[in-house]
Amino acid sequence: MPVPEHMEFFIDPNRCIGCQSCVQACGECDTHKGHPMIHLEYVDRAISVQTTPVVCMHCNTPTCAEVCPADAIKVTEDGVVQTARKPRCIACSNCVLACPFGVPKMKTEFELMMKCDMCYDRTSVGKKPMCATVCPSQALFFGTREEIEQIRPRSVSNNRFQFGQQVITTKVNMLFPKDNPIQHLNVTDAMNEQPVDQSFTLEMLMDAIGI
Ligand code: SF4
Ligand code: SF4
Repeated sequence: MPVPEHMEFFIDPNRCIGCQSCVQACGECDTHKGHPMIHLEYVDRAISVQTTPVVCMHCNTPTCAEVCPADAIKVTEDGVVQTARKPRCIACSNCVLACPFGVPKMKTEFELMMKCDMCYDRTSVGKKPMCATVCPSQALFFGTREEIEQIRPRSVSNNRFQFGQQVITTKVNMLFPKDNPIQHLNVTDAMNEQPVDQSFTLEMLMDAIGI
């Protein structure tokens, strides 16, 4: 069965409290052989402990599948980009290097690329993904667009990301504050942003401790 069209995945990085519940829950899923397919990234480690969860964004034109020489990454009719098929994957890591979101992981012990498949065994039968089920702050939310608009009236969702000249749209949505709306998230520009005035740069920190 496909994932019901009205059920969508939303990530609200502002709500992540870094508790790792999603990582633990994902690792316990039988289909992942004990390996979590979600991880946390620090937003700006030099100035903050703020984290954000990273799952497969299920791109509408998935770069991982496009660069796979073995045609091992399939997309189901509902737009969910599946983890690599074991009989086809040749463990070349092309997908690992090509994914703009840094999602696929090469599991050398299995000689297989593994990644988040939106808990397809659960979502295709109407259940929530493991991570969205346990997230205590609902930074990971799986439900209808009406539900998210009702519980997050001050947020707006976006699924367009710009990397250099390339714009990628995704099945997974990211939530942003409504008072700072954007057409798309320019990831390349965001990476080059300078720290705000009152924050420490690495140079300031090294000066302060005399290195
Ligand atoms: S986020 Fe990465 S792994 Fe997921 S579909 Fe897009 S390119 Fe593939
Ligand atoms: S590691 Fe496997 S899934 Fe990834 S590109 Fe190579 S063959 Fe395809």
